[in-house]
Amino acid sequence: MNAEDELLSLPDILSPAELLQMMSLLRESRRIVITAHHGPDGDAVGSALAWGAYLKKIGKKVSICLPSWYPDFLRWMPGSQDIITYYDNASAIRQLLAEADLVCCLDLNNLSRLNQMEEAVAATKAPRILIDHHVEPQTEQFKLVVSRPDMSSTCELVFRIIWQLGGYEHMSRSTAACLYTGIMTDTGNFSYSSNDPLLFLSVSLIMRKNIDKESIYKKIYHSWSQGKFTLWNDTLSQCLSFHASGHASVFTLTREQMKAHKFLRGDAEGLVNEPLKVRGMKLSISLREDTEENVVRVSLRSTAGFHCREMAERFFNGGGHEDAAGGKLPFPIEEARNTAIKAIEAYETQLINKPSPS
Ligand code: 5GP
Ligand code: MN
Repeated sequence: MNAEDELLSLPDILSPAELLQMMSLLRESRRIVITAHHGPDGDAVGSALAWGAYLKKIGKKVSICLPSWYPDFLRWMPGSQDIITYYDNASAIRQLLAEADLVCCLDLNNLSRLNQMEEAVAATKAPRILIDHHVEPQTEQFKLVVSRPDMSSTCELVFRIIWQLGGYEHMSRSTAACLYTGIMTDTGNFSYSSNDPLLFLSVSLIMRKNIDKESIYKKIYHSWSQGKFTLWNDTLSQCLSFHASGHASVFTLTREQMKAHKFLRGDAEGLVNEPLKVRGMKLSISLREDTEENVVRVSLRSTAGFHCREMAERFFNGGGHEDAAGGKLPFPIEEARNTAIKAIEAYETQLINKPSPS
């Protein structure tokens, strides 16, 4: 196929062997549980809802069970009211997992990303399918692994799978809106992870379902509470420090600060990207006291040739993508700040990137 033809038709995303296995696993299942990573974002929720809607259309009984709640700004997503969380309904979810014929794990590469729900999912007798775009999938835990780290988002991947399975024609506008949301949020509204022209062919097909992309943008990005606005401003002006000659930054967010600004779940999402707006900034580290567990959640973002994933693995008990990674530290916030500063020092040469003497 030449490049022009390719841009007019979506190539198959599943290999013939994967397609056969997917079809046979779906054919043999009636009750299906869908799950996604802890602290679900637009991509996790969007892909779970869209995959769930497809499975319902082909006659399956679907339950969407997430480890913890999604942010308030995703509450409008069609179907989200049917989601249940392990945080609130552990025993009901254990029951659903015990009765399930199939478990689909979306937008995670490792069962550890389910946090407190990990054990329950690992204990299921039903086969598991992984559908994800993170590197290093935990293959041994899954009967079928559909891992595509080159994809912008799990939503793009789910769209391509539904397309290949012939589910596009009957896809609803609501499902298209869920898929668009995940693609939009995982690419920062098409600013990163979105150089593949084929992504825009998928988006074009999603747009044909008559979604209102402007309204989705507003619901996600321009629906801030006053508290969120003041929290962002206060954090950036009072709790942020620059390091490595201005090529790295760290900010902290404590429970106390969050309380003062009437924090709602999701209010800090995206804040870690802000320091990257500074010229020369290559690394932004966010340290946030968790509201549910006694840990500091670490988020890292990098750009301009510095990659933060290795740092997340080495210093923050985590991992992720090359330029968007995270982890957690079981320390008080000040100790966590010291760890972040040590991590920056360990990578100082790369961050400053002085031209090597020739
Ligand atoms: P965020 O900063 O948005 O919470 O996470 C960014 C990315 O980092 C996620 O997509 C995920 O790949 C990775 N990540 C976040 N937290 C953890 C963690 O605790 N462990 C691992 N292995 N990866 C994480
Ligand atoms: Mn994702």
